[in-house]
Amino acid sequence: MNQPPDTDRFGRRVSYLRLSVTDRCNLRCAYCFRRENITFLRHEDILRYEEMLSIIEAAVSTGVDKVRLTGGEPLVRRDFLWFMQEIGRRFPGLDLRLTTNATLLSGKVDALRRAGLSRVNISIDSLDRSTYALIAGRDFLPQVMSAVSECLDAGLTVKLNAVALRGVSDREMPAFLELARDRDLDIRFIECMPVGEAGLEQRDRFIGADELLELASNHVKLSPVPRSSASSGPARVFSLEGGRGRLGLISPMTNHFCRTCNRLRVTADGHLRTCLFSDRSYLLRPALHHPRLGVEGVARIMRAAARNKPVGHDLLRDARVRSRMSAVGG
Ligand code: SAM
Repeated sequence: MNQPPDTDRFGRRVSYLRLSVTDRCNLRCAYCFRRENITFLRHEDILRYEEMLSIIEAAVSTGVDKVRLTGGEPLVRRDFLWFMQEIGRRFPGLDLRLTTNATLLSGKVDALRRAGLSRVNISIDSLDRSTYALIAGRDFLPQVMSAVSECLDAGLTVKLNAVALRGVSDREMPAFLELARDRDLDIRFIECMPVGEAGLEQRDRFIGADELLELASNHVKLSPVPRSSASSGPARVFSLEGGRGRLGLISPMTNHFCRTCNRLRVTADGHLRTCLFSDRSYLLRPALHHPRLGVEGVARIMRAAARNKPVGHDLLRDARVRSRMSAVGG
């Protein structure tokens, strides 16, 4: 039976699972991947879809009601559409979301919507084709933009996530604002985190959310959207005067949101992590396959992990988080 989630010592209720379906990606974003000596998980170490479905079942039994599929790039994994359909079929009512670079999304939007997807976050760091190709390592901007249009036409809620990079986000602010003015979507800038070697290497391109907000307000009148009505997660959200879409700012570095974080993460090889800023993890596969534990055993681990979820931002100060974002799921 599903139970309401426990509350931890900070009053946080873990009700949101981010599941990485693969650590592989068809892009090489500069802040996420170092481009040389890339290693991926061995195929046999990656959870099979059936195992992932059992992990979702365990999470749902602990009170999780929102699952985001991420990666790596979820759409590079074979039979991903089948997996989404299966989640929709087995867990009706689950709030099912997807984070994708959208390079392979075109033509699949309707099927994903029918499977139960209502919201999609699309990563796009630049609206300029050559800058996009420089950051992402591949020239895919036209494909991404047509997928964005397909998602809007299909009635999905669309958020565009841009990792904030000095020299890019500041220069392109007018273009991003124009997009949010013309189309019914949220543009969200995320402060770049020094996670993994690639993230650390981008430290001198860091630009904070407050600076971006000031820049944006030089171009358009912004009004804060109250948190309760913003469906914003950790973002501060602003409406644009005369605009259809909105601007969001996510500031894990300058104004972290650990005290309200309600997330668990499961990596593609079945490590449960309770904090993006900590490399501590709990292995789920052995429990899942243990004859006396199974789904119930995984649920027990999740409850214990959620109770001990750190307020991990301090960990960034001294320790280097080694895991790269493509392995953890962002
Ligand atoms: N491939 C999918 C995508 O591109 O959206 C999902 C995985 S990606 C790792 C998830 C999110 O993490 C993306 O929005 C990405 O931009 C963000 N991300 C990766 N490395 C980051 C970093 N160092 N700082 C901030 N965000 C980062």
